[in-house]
Amino acid sequence: MSTVSDYFGSLVFDDRVMRAELSAKVYASLRKTIDEGTELDIGVANAVAQAMKDWAVAHGATHFTHWFQPLTGITAEKHDGFISPAPNGSVIMEFSGKELIKGEPDASSFPSGGLRATFEARGYTAWDPTSYAFIKGKTLCIPTAFCSYGGHALDKKTPLLRSMEVLSRQALRILRLFGNDTAKRVVSSVGPEQEYFLITKEMYDKRPDLRFTGRTLFGAKPPKGQELDDHYFGVIKPTVAAYMEDLNEELWKLGILAKTEHNEVAPAQHELAPIYSTTNIATDHNQLTMEIMQKVAAKHGLVCLLHEKPFAGVNGSGKHNNWSIATDSGQNLLSPGETPYENAQFLLFLCAVIKAVDDYQDLLRLSVATAGNDHRLGANEAPPAVISMFLGDELDAVLRAIETDTPYHGAEHMQMKLGVDVLPKFNRDTTDRNRTSPFAFTGNKFEFRMLGSSNSIACANIMLNSAVAESLRIFADELEQSTDFETSLHDLIRDTIRAHRRIIFNGNGYDESWIREATQKRGLLNYRTTADCMPHLLDEKNVTMLTALGVFTIDELRSRRDIMLENYCKSVVIEANTMVDMARTQIAPAIEAYVSDVAKAAAAKKKVVPEIKCGYEAGLVRKLSVLVDEIAQKADVLDEALVKIRDAEDIIEESAMVRDLLLPVMCELRVPCDQAETMTAKSYWPFPTYGDILFSVK
Ligand code: ADP
Ligand code: MG
Repeated sequence: MSTVSDYFGSLVFDDRVMRAELSAKVYASLRKTIDEGTELDIGVANAVAQAMKDWAVAHGATHFTHWFQPLTGITAEKHDGFISPAPNGSVIMEFSGKELIKGEPDASSFPSGGLRATFEARGYTAWDPTSYAFIKGKTLCIPTAFCSYGGHALDKKTPLLRSMEVLSRQALRILRLFGNDTAKRVVSSVGPEQEYFLITKEMYDKRPDLRFTGRTLFGAKPPKGQELDDHYFGVIKPTVAAYMEDLNEELWKLGILAKTEHNEVAPAQHELAPIYSTTNIATDHNQLTMEIMQKVAAKHGLVCLLHEKPFAGVNGSGKHNNWSIATDSGQNLLSPGETPYENAQFLLFLCAVIKAVDDYQDLLRLSVATAGNDHRLGANEAPPAVISMFLGDELDAVLRAIETDTPYHGAEHMQMKLGVDVLPKFNRDTTDRNRTSPFAFTGNKFEFRMLGSSNSIACANIMLNSAVAESLRIFADELEQSTDFETSLHDLIRDTIRAHRRIIFNGNGYDESWIREATQKRGLLNYRTTADCMPHLLDEKNVTMLTALGVFTIDELRSRRDIMLENYCKSVVIEANTMVDMARTQIAPAIEAYVSDVAKAAAAKKKVVPEIKCGYEAGLVRKLSVLVDEIAQKADVLDEALVKIRDAEDIIEESAMVRDLLLPVMCELRVPCDQAETMTAKSYWPFPTYGDILFSVK
């Protein structure tokens, strides 16, 4: 039996392999590119390509691909063979530095939101040497960015790399002011905790809604759901255990640090948490993780559901984005330090995050917006659609002391002039108790909890990095001008807390009264749906910030808004079509068949005993007939709405129509269908019920 350390990262062209396979000179040059972002010269690229190909072929690879993340949210790849014909009729395996650095997929069918006119349909992919190449199946995958020839980013990686760059630049300005002359880079790190459902393939195949939309569109509440809370951290079933073991092995081979796995609150729901890494690697790894979770499931006769809300009335799936920033030497900038000087620095970075979250609530909200995630946010299982921050009582007390210029804890502690006392250590127990906050401080990092399980984490981290970079830029501009650093720092921290106090909320975020307080008293934003929030991507303050920092161009922003809204509309339209179809061709006929047999049974009984009342049958026939009429009528209304939205003038109007005309009628159609399910004999019902699906895995 090989041990994990034998095969961990065995399919990754990582630092160990590079060091072993490249000459010292080539290695040093590549390392400089990776660490400092210097340009890679073609001689080095050729040597790296050669070594990469030899290594990949030795590991069974026959093809290579530039692996990238188009705006659809999935990953894309186009495979090319290494094979080239040799003069003697045999083949040789070839791969050049040029092919490593740049590729030209014919990507004209990826969404570009108008960025790529058809006459320049081709975009190109460019190697991101900060993310290691890896082997998947028989293919060497090279992580790349994807751009149009005009230089517009057509993917999620490019703006993510740009946002990391601006965050680093602005954070370094602050560190210099605190006398740190050695840090070369500041890096944002992420550990995304991934939730998912596992069901059997057998059940999945029988549900058109799951197959077409990833979620169930019908289904009455099962007799047993999650009310006993017996699934959370419960014993893992043998099939699931075998799946998790296999999954871990596949992830470990790819150098993905999957660490903990446990059951979640809902039946059939589980979670996987990786050890954190640099934001862009964490993003690549999370995309790969989602892909491999689904592949491994198929091998076990299972289906892994990544939809945010596969089952109504049962907890949905999210993805907690644990985020922090650290220097290249490993100093966590969100960790209170040992010395007063470090503490002042910590408080300033903390204030940068507080200001960022308050100023750009809308960007954070829309960075997690999808049709699927709209079902979770605010549904008493996930944070509400209102953004607020949880800091915990201790840290809040410190901030209040600074804000009011009063000593912390009444003592002479914490005058917040540099050279004062050490802050208390915030241990996890006191900071992590609040699970209802969208954005919680957890000791040395923030946990952004609004992401949906199927979201790419790129968008959320682009916005987070950019918004924090913007706060730091404003802080640095001010402090660099100051002649009395300590006083200016003190005033800046105090004024920032005063100005952004409204975003801090340590109470229960699931409480209805919080939403009232947040929106009416504090003036916080509450964008309930994707259609509500997405247009604000182009609000002037957002465009100004994102373009001035160089994270997006205005055209890139416009294209992203359009693509996200198109995605929203398409997803809901497919759901609505699926509902109409299932209601008309499966549910109504099943009810009719059952009603007809019940009526026949009553007639047969009457033949034998003429004076019998047949109250049971009469009642069933009456109730089910009313329901089936209602189903037919609502299906017609939904059908008409589907026709109506085709008249929308633009994507903003269309998304509003989807929100106002489709989604409410879909809920109305579902009600009589679910009621009928509870009255119809099981053998007549055309697909598995919630109980069948949720408890299908042994
Ligand atoms: P748990 O919640 O399992 O008790 P943690 O809170 O330590 O443990 O970790 C939760 C997630 O946060 C993990 O994915 C972990 O890798 C990640 N994490 C821990 N530290 C950091 C950090 N400095 N930056 C980003 N993510 C982190
Ligand atoms: Mg956690």
